[in-house]
Amino acid sequence: MNIILFGPPGAGKGTQAERIIEHYSLAHLSTGNMFRSAIQNKTPLGLKVSSILASGELVSDDIVVALVQEETEKEIYHNGCIYDGFPRTVAQSAAFDQMLSERNQQVDILLSLTVDNDELVNRILSRGQGRSDDTEEGIKHRLTVYNNETKPVLNYYKEKGQVIEIDGTGSVDDVFNRIKDAIDAI
Ligand code: AMP
Repeated sequence: MNIILFGPPGAGKGTQAERIIEHYSLAHLSTGNMFRSAIQNKTPLGLKVSSILASGELVSDDIVVALVQEETEKEIYHNGCIYDGFPRTVAQSAAFDQMLSERNQQVDILLSLTVDNDELVNRILSRGQGRSDDTEEGIKHRLTVYNNETKPVLNYYKEKGQVIEIDGTGSVDDVFNRIKDAIDAI
């Protein structure tokens, strides 16, 4: 089962992804985590993307798609995965669908976590992970990038009938229970 966990920055994707993989024994692919780890390890990829992450812009589609293509060739992803933070543009979505169909797989469902804007900024500011892009200005910019470039991904999958909206407000358990109901109904 391939699940896209979708939502604006601060919607709780990372936290919910952890709960989902624990409960359903799925692999977890977070492009944001992969980039942060590359930056920390000062790999050529890390050096290339470090200023992009700091600015809140998106890494280019060709870099992201090549990274996901290479990573998902690993066996651990073949029985299903939670994709968290990917795809983030319509071009990435089309490339992703193509990638999966070459493996006789598909996106089974996109879970869209909805949280209103003010709540998002508050959540990110208070999560205190010390991420370099977690300044108020950085967050607002990431929300703008999300609205302009990432939101259209929702329509792309809506047209294919693959979107389920999940109310992302309330406790971690509340949100996880809603997600569980949605996944179990597939
Ligand atoms: P995240 O941890 O998912 O919020 O990602 C942190 C940052 O990594 C984003 O603000 C982007 O700069 C970059 N990034 C992560 N995933 C993608 C993606 N699928 N496409 C482009 N940039 C990405």
